[in-house]
Formats: sequence, structure tokens, C-alpha cells
Amino acid sequence: MIKVTVWNEYYHEHESEKVREVYPNGIHSAIAEFLKTDENLLVRTATLYENNLTDELLNDTDVLFWWGHMKHSAVPDELAQKVQERVLHGMGFIALHSAHHSKPFKKLMGTSCNLRWREDDKHERIWNVCPTHPIAKGIDLFFEIDKDEMYGELFDIPKPDDLIFITWHPGGELMRSGCTFRRGNGKIFYFQPGHETYPIFYDKNVQKVLFNAVYWVAPDVIDPEIISCKHPESPEQAYLK
Ligand code: ZN
Repeated sequence: MIKVTVWNEYYHEHESEKVREVYPNGIHSAIAEFLKTDENLLVRTATLYENNLTDELLNDTDVLFWWGHMKHSAVPDELAQKVQERVLHGMGFIALHSAHHSKPFKKLMGTSCNLRWREDDKHERIWNVCPTHPIAKGIDLFFEIDKDEMYGELFDIPKPDDLIFITWHPGGELMRSGCTFRRGNGKIFYFQPGHETYPIFYDKNVQKVLFNAVYWVAPDVIDPEIISCKHPESPEQAYLK
């Protein structure tokens, strides 16, 4: 059983009729709904709007999804710190779309995470450039999304461990759109599609990628002891006694 928590700001949905039409119960609920079809996952949600990502829930989470955009600065520094520490101890972290600028993701990356962007209602083609990676399992050489915001290079992230997807935009831009990182014991996946005004989280390919990502970032064990600072005797001491 993998314990998944889907976190969303949940402000766009309250403030925009257009977003509410696409995600009447919030982006988090749409993601949770398809994840719940897998009985190996225990799926819960939390939002900034409801202020309900408690210590108890975070400390009982194996994989945390993060969708944020307009309220990055409203996320308490203390919460971002707790998320970072939980990742270092082993929790998987999946940053979606505009979460590239979220406090937890930037803390984990250590860079600006800036990129180029443009809302131009165009399609995008997502190329699978690492078909042997578990996150790309079942995904064709490429798939297309009808409409999304353009996110393009230069994306100021550290060199990814695995580059799994590259997105092509009709405007000419490219984007490293599916990247993995390891920080401490934790595994991280960033995935670019997912602007709030488009039904991207209902897309079957996107859902397949996110299912795969849950299983890939999920930890075998979350144990701060593994990376704790120790001052032991030398193992050879045992022979000298
Ligand atoms: Zn967006």
C-alpha cells in the first residue's frame, strides 16, 4: 500500500469560472479520482485553501503531489521546510506544471527554476526520450496534448538524473518536461503538462505517466536514521578486541 497525498492550492478553482468548469472539485480531486482506481494506493488530498496538510498527514505520506501557481508565496516557509526534510528522509515528490516555482521544489533543486512561458492555447508534442525508464512504461514515442501553456527552455534546474520527456511547442520552443532527481533518500519527478484551464489531468497518457511516477518515486523505507550523522568506532575495532 502506497500512501499518496495530492496537494493543490485550490484558489484558481474558487476564483475563475473557466477553471471551475474544467475542475469543478479542484485539480487535486481530479488527480485523486483516477489514482483511486488503483487499489494499491491509499489516496488523500490536501489544499492550501483548506490549510489541511497537517504534520500528521505529511508524516504519513509516501508520495506527495504538488500543484501550485498563484499562491506560492502563501505557503509557509516552515511547511516547505518540512516537505523538503520528508523528501530527504525518503518521501517521493511529484511536482506538476507550475509547481516548478513552488517553495518545496525550489528548495529541493537549489536553483531559480525559472523558465520561459506563454499562454497561447496551442498543442504540444511530448517526446518519450527514455522509453526504458519505468516512468515511460506504456508510453509511445510521443503523445500530444490539444492545448497547454507553453513552457520552454531555458529551464533553470540542476542537471536531471533522468530526462524522460521533452516537449515540443509549435512556437518553436523545447522543454525538458519530464525529469527525475534524487535528494537524500527521496526521489523527485517534475512533469510539465497541467495548466489549470485545460483538461490535461483527464488525459490517458498523462494519467499513465503519473501512475508510473507514483510507483517510481515511492520509497521502500522512510528512515531518517539512514542519513543521520554518526560518529562510530571503526569496524576493525571488533577484530582488535
Ligand atoms: Zn500554467
